[in-house]
Amino acid sequence: SERTLAMIKPDGLSGNYTERIKEVITESGFDIVKEAVVRLDAERASLFYVEHSGRSFFDSLVKYMTSGPVLVMVLERPDAILHWRALIGPTDARKAKTSHPNSIRAMCGLDSEKNCVHGSDSPQSAAREISFFFGDARSD
Ligand code: ATP
Repeated sequence: SERTLAMIKPDGLSGNYTERIKEVITESGFDIVKEAVVRLDAERASLFYVEHSGRSFFDSLVKYMTSGPVLVMVLERPDAILHWRALIGPTDARKAKTSHPNSIRAMCGLDSEKNCVHGSDSPQSAAREISFFFGDARSD
């Protein structure tokens, strides 16, 4: 079994999509092994997305990610990382609506920034992001 970090971003929480997203999660065979509602400040949001710090959209991304609380979850199932990425759909929610109409971003996202959910993209980022929010403890 494998773990990944899933996040419902501020627009997902404020749009009341949490319960519908959690239904998709459990119906897709994931266990939610940890969860927390967190408010990111600009420093923490910048650190989370540090790989994008040189991008033109970075300031806007930090503003978006600090606009309200987020819900972070550790999800577990076989192939959790790839499976969750497939469920959320492409980064641009407008594309998701046409090419991946059953994806989570098609359900609750708006555009290439406000895409309502996040998922780790590799085992390395999953490990980094899980410890970013939940610390390094190996046990539950
Ligand atoms: P995430 O890392 O949040 O799961 P992702 O891996 O699909 O998303 P990345 O390329 O890592 O996409 O971008 C991280 C986040 O930055 C995106 O989820 C989105 O909120 C924002 N973003 C990405 N591209 C753009 C863009 N062109 N314009 C505005 N915001 C963007």
